[in-house]
Amino acid sequence: MSLGIRMLFCPNCQHPVASSVSACGNCGADFGSGSSWTPQEKPAPKGGERSHLGVVCLLLALSPVMLALVNLPVFWLLDCDGNEGVGIRCLRAPWFSEFATAAAGLGVWGAFFTAPAALLLYLIGAVARHVGRRR
Ligand SMILES: [Zn+2]
Repeated sequence: MSLGIRMLFCPNCQHPVASSVSACGNCGADFGSGSSWTPQEKPAPKGGERSHLGVVCLLLALSPVMLALVNLPVFWLLDCDGNEGVGIRCLRAPWFSEFATAAAGLGVWGAFFTAPAALLLYLIGAVARHVGRRR
């Protein structure tokens, strides 16, 4: 790092720019005296929100898989047999059968519903961010 030149960030595209330049080399935003653009000390925190939403959607999309990962060892331990259609019977824990059927049904339901819902949520978030940036 040479003295006198700090690394700043373009307010338009978040590209790193030197404090000495008068325009962004990436998107061409003008940092001259007549321009409203000014290089920022830190990049805008939009990227953080985006990854947070992405993680939530990913977890939602993977929830049927995680449910199955939890179900399988439990079903195996309790000697459960059957499927979500005919119902599941647990030989070692009859009281668990009803819950097991519901959990299996939820997994199937989740695979059909949760994953598309997560994708839709992510798309809505992406559109909201796009609209927010234009304002
Ligand atoms: Zn830029």
